[in-house]
Amino acid sequence: MRIRTKIYIGYIIVFSIILINVSINTYTRHMFLKDSIETRQMAHEIEHINSIAMSVLQLLMPANDFLSTGNISEKEKFIKLKNNTMEILDIPDQVITQNQEIYKTLNENIQKIDNLSNEIFNIEQTGSPKGARLMYEMDSIGNKTVTLIREYNKKQHEQLNVLYETSRHNVVIVNIATIISMIFLIILGFIMIYYFNENLRKPIEKLNRGFQGVSHGRWNHVSLNQNDELSDLAKEFNTMVERMSSSYEGLENEVRTRTAELTELNKRLEALAITDGLTGVYNHRYFYERYHQEYNRALRYNRHMSLFMIDIDHFKHYNDTNGHMAGDKVINRVAKILVKESRKSDIVARYGGEEFVIISPELDEEQALAFAERLREKIEKFKFNNEGAQPNGSITVSIGIAVFPDINKGPEDLLKRTDEAMYQAKRTGRNKSILSKMENEKRVNKVKKKK
Ligand code: GH3
Ligand code: MG
Ligand code: MG
Repeated sequence: MRIRTKIYIGYIIVFSIILINVSINTYTRHMFLKDSIETRQMAHEIEHINSIAMSVLQLLMPANDFLSTGNISEKEKFIKLKNNTMEILDIPDQVITQNQEIYKTLNENIQKIDNLSNEIFNIEQTGSPKGARLMYEMDSIGNKTVTLIREYNKKQHEQLNVLYETSRHNVVIVNIATIISMIFLIILGFIMIYYFNENLRKPIEKLNRGFQGVSHGRWNHVSLNQNDELSDLAKEFNTMVERMSSSYEGLENEVRTRTAELTELNKRLEALAITDGLTGVYNHRYFYERYHQEYNRALRYNRHMSLFMIDIDHFKHYNDTNGHMAGDKVINRVAKILVKESRKSDIVARYGGEEFVIISPELDEEQALAFAERLREKIEKFKFNNEGAQPNGSITVSIGIAVFPDINKGPEDLLKRTDEAMYQAKRTGRNKSILSKMENEKRVNKVKKKK
């Protein structure tokens, strides 16, 4: 049910309860008023009729007195009393219909008393039997009047009792109606509190948690088991969450793929930046970078480090004889042999044209010379294409070696010494390894060998 409908129903129920309560109250108040007016009227009437009855009984007195005294002034007294009685007897406008009968009877009795009294006043002799008979008749009328009034009073009292009972009954009805409507209103109040709690507060809190989740990157759905505007909102929210999460996932995947591509590209770029295109060994720039690092490391930890400069002999001749392409192949093959013969920790780089350098950490002079000789022999023994035309009958290399620590004049000096050793090898016949000698120099420190 929609919230709007529920609110309308709530209004209608509250309004109906209040309306019923007000109607019952108003109706009963009206009844109270009516009863009290009726009661007052009845009281007036009872009083009026009783006073008439008293007057009627008083009317009997003058004739009676006349008969015993013979005083004719009693007649005047009677006329006065009769006039008074007739005045009182005037039926009030608002007399209740059912009581008109008694007024009529009282009137008739007065007329009878008047006739009998007049007959008595005309009697000249006191104590005559006629007087006694007339007086007896008058007394019987008086008695009848008393009986009539007594019955009338009894009846009126009964009616008053009925009125009182009705009023009491009405009071009870009003009280019960008020209590019932109050109970209904209290129950309705509880129902409304429950409704607001279940259908508004809790769902709103759930939605709130959902939105907070989204703002913290959690794609949780909100489930509301109702059919109103809030559940519509929850459905919209869930659709939005689904769309957002799928596009977010798509975006994340895209970013992941792109990042992986970029990482791969970066690796390749890095490799390209430090690798020599022709041979695949490290390039000159990378050699310099690593050379300084290794030099500093050896210096700091007081370790050996050997540096080799390898130059292909009479290479210009080979190029001139076999062409540049064939020359490239030789350079490439020499690089491969150097890499193959080196350790993993060695750094093999192309220094320039047909020149290579190798950094060998932890190699002392003896080991360095042995390593250089092994390299030289491997290259000498390798069968290069058309190497027989070379001046010394095959492709060979000259190797210059310098080993740290020496006089410690810095990395540039060590490199220069290596280069000089290599040129010395060239000058002294090529295809040989020369270790840079320091006969006149003083070694700075001794190095402990790696265990
Ligand atoms: P030496 O024994 O004194 O070293 O004689 P050499 O001819 O090797 O010395 P030189 O420095 O005079 O000549 C080096 C030659 O190496 C010159 C050049 O044509 C050749 N060269 C340098 N770089 C390359 C290259 O990348 N490819 C080819 N094919 N030849 C190259
Ligand atoms: Mg050269
Ligand atoms: Mg050369």
